[in-house]
Amino acid sequence: ATPTAVMVGTGRGAENGILFRGGEHLEATATLDAILLDKTGTLTVGKPSVTDVVVLEALDAGPGVDRDVAEGAAGAAGEAPTGAGASGDAAPGGEAAPGRGGAGSSDLDAAQRALLRLVASVERASEHPLAAAIVQRAREAGLDLDEPESFEAIPGHGVQARLAGRDVVVGNRRLMEARGVAVDAAANRLAALEEQGKTVMLVAVDGRLAGLIAVADTLKETAPEAVAALHEMGLEVWMITGDNARTARAVARQAGIPAERVLAEVLPADKAAKVRELQARGRKVAMVGDGINDAPALAAADVGIAIGTGTDVAIETSDVTLMRGDLRGLVAAIELSRATLGKIR
Ligand code: ADP
Ligand code: MG
Repeated sequence: ATPTAVMVGTGRGAENGILFRGGEHLEATATLDAILLDKTGTLTVGKPSVTDVVVLEALDAGPGVDRDVAEGAAGAAGEAPTGAGASGDAAPGGEAAPGRGGAGSSDLDAAQRALLRLVASVERASEHPLAAAIVQRAREAGLDLDEPESFEAIPGHGVQARLAGRDVVVGNRRLMEARGVAVDAAANRLAALEEQGKTVMLVAVDGRLAGLIAVADTLKETAPEAVAALHEMGLEVWMITGDNARTARAVARQAGIPAERVLAEVLPADKAAKVRELQARGRKVAMVGDGINDAPALAAADVGIAIGTGTDVAIETSDVTLMRGDLRGLVAAIELSRATLGKIR
């Protein structure tokens, strides 16, 4: 392509919310043959919310726990108002915030509230979107949170804390295995939730499995049609995630990505290595992501593509930014680059 054609192409992209950082990236986009999509925030909306609070072993009432449960139970009486934008931080005994999908705070029993309170007290120190979902649910339920005595985040695994004299660990199966917590008793429930595409966090208290908290994130409405269009254009479409394989495959199925192209349980530090593995198989690879975790993978890819709703870090490390946070922009970017380079297959 002539320099003029490339300039016209990048200009046309900009008009449509597709920012190529330079003409060379427009040219590289035309040669892609594999697209690696991050799950959370790229294929999904990236705002998980709590769907299930499963108590496996009731917590013995620790200091302060039963006090709040009593308050909460009183406060939860009556229907939560639906619709109108009530504030997210409902006070105990006051109005409950409207629940998603009609599920208000009143549907949690005392044991569930005690578990949620404990977990949210730990998770409020975490910056992970999963943590935000749990804290949000606790607020909706009007729970008062406690201050942990210590807190540690374990990237790609979960969190652990000391709270009211208890050791609390919240995270995935791998973390439970590393801490010697037996999870077999919950295996069936875990599998059933994951089959629905939910991410399940296991909760251990003093070394024993106490419960499960599941969250769901919504697939972006336009994701299936974008994936279908990419396939139509002859591209391999892969999904990459730190989430477990069962959940990842369920989400991939909804998006139209084949199970054999799902890379799950990939630690944040290993995402870039997965990009290089595909490159070693001769693929020209685009990585599409939004998170801080994705920056090294974006940098390793032949074309790093940040999705507009993403973090500044992702946008800074990327070659292309899709301003609209919609995967149809990815399809348009590839079409535009191919048209500019005269590479229509
Ligand atoms: P991704 O960014 O792909 O969602 P991460 O690498 O951040 O994945 O996390 C991988 C898994 O580790 C999560 O699916 C979850 O099971 C667990 N995890 C990570 N952070 C937390 C947290 N703050 N609380 C509980 N579990 C967590
Ligand atoms: Mg992430």
